[in-house]
Amino acid sequence: MRKCVFFDRDGIVNQSPGPGYVERWEDFVLLPEFVDVLRAVTDMGFDAVIVSNQRGIARGILDRGEVERIHENLQRVLNNEYDLALLDVIYCPHDEGQCTCRKPQPGMLLEAARRHNIDMDESWMIGDQERDIEAGKSAGCRTVLVSEGDARSQADFKVGSMAELSGVVRRLLGC
Ligand SMILES: [Mg+2]
Repeated sequence: MRKCVFFDRDGIVNQSPGPGYVERWEDFVLLPEFVDVLRAVTDMGFDAVIVSNQRGIARGILDRGEVERIHENLQRVLNNEYDLALLDVIYCPHDEGQCTCRKPQPGMLLEAARRHNIDMDESWMIGDQERDIEAGKSAGCRTVLVSEGDARSQADFKVGSMAELSGVVRRLLGC
């Protein structure tokens, strides 16, 4: 079975769009710190999957085709420029209360586990919001919250910034 690190997208992979949405690839700003983290994860023998809430689709703000274009371009940039790969990118297009995939529910992680034969006991969820942590826990993963604040979290580990994450990941995944 595979072991996997699940990543939230906005705020972890790319610069957070704030309260809005990344509507076009041209507005998608890949974080160099994420590239370092993905390299660490890959070096440690884990696959990587992005799981992203994109309810802007349900609200008619985001175009589904454009969301998929963003993810295809992201994969291409990671492959071509960094020789890195994502096993999968899964997004939830629904609004709240309409599905079992929108985080904090674990549906996207469970779907990835079904598709790719992932061992959740050996896997991790990394995100910048508590709902990412809840989803990871519900799916049976260990969890890392990336957050500057000192708000209480049920995460197994907390990291203050993306800059620290690759070092922490190398340490945690090596255990
Ligand atoms: Mg986020």
